[in-house]
Amino acid sequence: MNRGTADLDDGDRTQVVARGDDEYEAARGVFNVRLMRQPALIHRCRTAEDVRVALRVAHERGLGIAVRAGGHSHAGWSSIEDGLVIDLTSMRSIEIDAETSTAWVGGGTLAMDLVQAAARFGLAPVVGTTATVGIAGLLLGLGEGYLSAKHGFGTDNILELRVVTADGTIQTVSATSHPDLFWAMRGAGANFGVVTAFKLQLHPLPARAIRGRLTFVGDEVRPVTDHIWEVLHRGSPHYFPMVCYERDDGGQASVRFMPGHTGPAEEAELDLRRLREAASPSSDTTAPCSYPELIGAGIERARTVCDVYRFAFDGDLEAQKDLLLGLHAALPRFGQVWLWRTVPIVPSSAVGVAPRLPGITVGIAGTWHDPREDEEYLRWIRETSTTMVDSELALVASNTINHVHEIGPERIRRLYGDDYTRLAALKAVVDPENVFRSNANIPPA
Ligand SMILES: Cc1cc2nc3c(=O)[nH]c(=O)nc-3n(C[C@H](O)[C@H](O)[C@H](O)COP(=O)(O)OP(=O)(O)OC[C@H]3O[C@@H](n4cnc5c(N)ncnc54)[C@H](O)[C@@H]3O)c2cc1C
Repeated sequence: MNRGTADLDDGDRTQVVARGDDEYEAARGVFNVRLMRQPALIHRCRTAEDVRVALRVAHERGLGIAVRAGGHSHAGWSSIEDGLVIDLTSMRSIEIDAETSTAWVGGGTLAMDLVQAAARFGLAPVVGTTATVGIAGLLLGLGEGYLSAKHGFGTDNILELRVVTADGTIQTVSATSHPDLFWAMRGAGANFGVVTAFKLQLHPLPARAIRGRLTFVGDEVRPVTDHIWEVLHRGSPHYFPMVCYERDDGGQASVRFMPGHTGPAEEAELDLRRLREAASPSSDTTAPCSYPELIGAGIERARTVCDVYRFAFDGDLEAQKDLLLGLHAALPRFGQVWLWRTVPIVPSSAVGVAPRLPGITVGIAGTWHDPREDEEYLRWIRETSTTMVDSELALVASNTINHVHEIGPERIRRLYGDDYTRLAALKAVVDPENVFRSNANIPPA
């Protein structure tokens, strides 16, 4: 069988949900519950035509718009206070063509939906490391994960889009149809319309992977940090370690190392042996698994803050490590600093505006549940971001818009650099009223 379809739509849910309706509380839920909004209307769309209707209703009633797919925006962009949410969570269809290694996926599809469906055909998409993140937000922003070192960012793997633009037109967007929009949507996509379907390039399914983690504490933190720098600098097409500096349950500063290895067994064993020789883990839960198992089951909703920077590969490496270890020592209970290698490889299909800035990504995140702790984490992340910027070691990161809970216009300009002017000019043509502004917004020129 070379073709397969899956429709993960969960039945006949109410199509329009308003305040006061039974389904309202569940329908307005998002990943970052700290930024849970109270929209006036939630339009659950199944088709491009539904999206047009939702746009018209918003226009007639003068409501602001937010577009929601997986609902994992750290910045709360997937909902809007008193506005209308174009909810794509009923658009989780997948159609795989194994002969061309491509898939058409609905605009509300989650990473895990596609990973599982593609694996049945011996194929795999470039998605992130978390199962429940939406394909749409992930890829329109950038999208990186275990297969990025081989196959580029997720956005590089978009072949075609079906888009409803602000005037309600349904467009086919590809390298040959509206190429300027195709360029802009692959890296700044949420600004330009609602994507109801993506055609994506898939790749051979890794034969195996390594899941689990090794944990390092006490005197092992420094040597494991030296090794992490070596690994992240060296790079490998199969080795995408995610490293988390945090506190363990006893409050001790610890380092969690998740190898995320998708290479051959001998190579994975060698890489893990080198790691264990560099520092001794206090626990080790690593084990072979399939690629879908590596992507896992998702993470529960929480209150979050998030910011992201980049350490340049040619920077002052010892100063970078000292800065990181200083942040580690001062982490609050639920604060974390994440590291991973951002690889700006340029596949031949890469015609998008996605920034390609090489380096070690430094993600600063807080994840907690008690609203009384909001102020503490907001203050901490502001101070930490200031420390990073003042150090002059932390640079703007390619993946900024997917990993920040707050962003101002200056940072967006810096992120897109010389491309910003072209993006703003295109926005003025495609969305002159700035209807799509619940995102890392590029106002019309
Ligand atoms: C727990 C967690 C883990 C993560 N892991 C990774 C990772 O491994 N790799 C990685 O690259 N990123 C990762 N991210 C970041 C993630 O890529 C972004 O948060 C992404 O924007 C989420 O997409 P979404 O569809 O789930 O979110 P949403 O909040 O639904 O959407 C995000 C943005 O995209 C817009 N949008 C959504 N759907 C559409 C559409 N169909 N058409 C037009 N605009 C649309 C929204 O309006 C919003 O501005 C992670 C985030 C979280 C919270």
